[in-house]
Amino acid sequence: MSVTWTVTQKQKLIELNGEPALFNQTFTSSSERDQAFQKIERELVQKNKQHLLELKNSGFRPLVCQLESKMVNRLNAEGFVQVVTPIMLAKGMLEKMTITQDHPLSKQVFWVDDNRCLRPMLAPNLYYLMHDLNRLWGKPVRIFEVGPCFRKESQGANHLNEFTMLNLVELGTPEGEQTARLRELAAIMMDTIGLKNYKLETDTSEVYDTTIDVVAGDLELGSGAYGPHKLDPAWGIVDPWVGIGFGVERLAMALQGHRTIRRVGRSLSYLDGSRLNI
Ligand code: ATP
Ligand code: MG
Repeated sequence: MSVTWTVTQKQKLIELNGEPALFNQTFTSSSERDQAFQKIERELVQKNKQHLLELKNSGFRPLVCQLESKMVNRLNAEGFVQVVTPIMLAKGMLEKMTITQDHPLSKQVFWVDDNRCLRPMLAPNLYYLMHDLNRLWGKPVRIFEVGPCFRKESQGANHLNEFTMLNLVELGTPEGEQTARLRELAAIMMDTIGLKNYKLETDTSEVYDTTIDVVAGDLELGSGAYGPHKLDPAWGIVDPWVGIGFGVERLAMALQGHRTIRRVGRSLSYLDGSRLNI
C-alpha cells in the first residue's frame, strides 16, 4: 500500500514552506506518514522561528521592502524620478484606459463609491503626469511609482487582492527603439534584484494589446508596453514611450521560490515569508 500526505498535512507543509520534493513523498502506512509529518513539521516550525529571529536581530526589513528600495535607488541612478499619486482613482481615469462597464477588467475593480475606485494599476496616473511633466521638463520624461494596487482576483497562488506595483515609464524613447529599450530596462531591473532566470515573452493584454512580459518559469513578473499606442490620444500623448509594471511580491516569490504569493503579501499570518501562527 502506498500512502501520501493528507490534504491538511499538505496544506500545512505549504504554509511552512516545505521543499517541493517533500510533496511527492509516499509511505507504506499512515502511521509511518504521520510520524514523518510530525518530524518535518517540527523542523519547519523551527526554521520559520529562526528566520523571524534573524529578521529581528539583523535583517530588519522584509524582502519585499528591500527589493522596493533597491529598485528605487537604481531607477534614480538611471534618471527616473519617483512620483506619488492617489490610491483612489476617479471613474473617468479608468474610462480613459477603456476600462468601462463591459470590459473584463472592470469586474476586478473595488469601488469606493459611485465615482471612485481603488486603483487596479498605476498606468492612468502615470499617463496623466507624463503629459504635464513633458510640458514642464521636455523630453525625455522618466518617472516611476511604487505602491499598492487592488484587484478582485479568484485567489490563486499567484494573485493577491492587494499587491505592490512598481511601474516605470519613459516618454521620448527614440522611434523604433521601443522594444530594445524595454529589454534594456527589464534587464536593468532584474540585475538590480539579482534575478537571473527570467525571459521576455510577447503576450496580449486586455488593455494594451501587445505586451512584452518578464517571466520566470510560468510566473509573470512584469508587463511591458510601448507607444505610440491607441490609448495615447485620450491622454494628450503624441511621442513614443515605453513602460513596465512589475509586481513586487511576484519578484520576491520568484527569488525565494515560494509556492504561494500569500507568504510575501500584506498579511497578519506571515512576516517576510515566515508563518506567524506557529
Ligand atoms: P496576470 O496575468 O498574472 O493576472 P496581469 O497581466 O493581469 O497579471 P498586469 O496588469 O500586467 O497583470 O500587471 C503588472 C504586474 O503586476 C504583473 O506582471 C504582476 O507581476 C503584478 N500583478 C498583477 N495582478 C496581480 C495580483 N492580483 N497579485 C499580485 N501581483 C499582481
Ligand atoms: Mg500582464
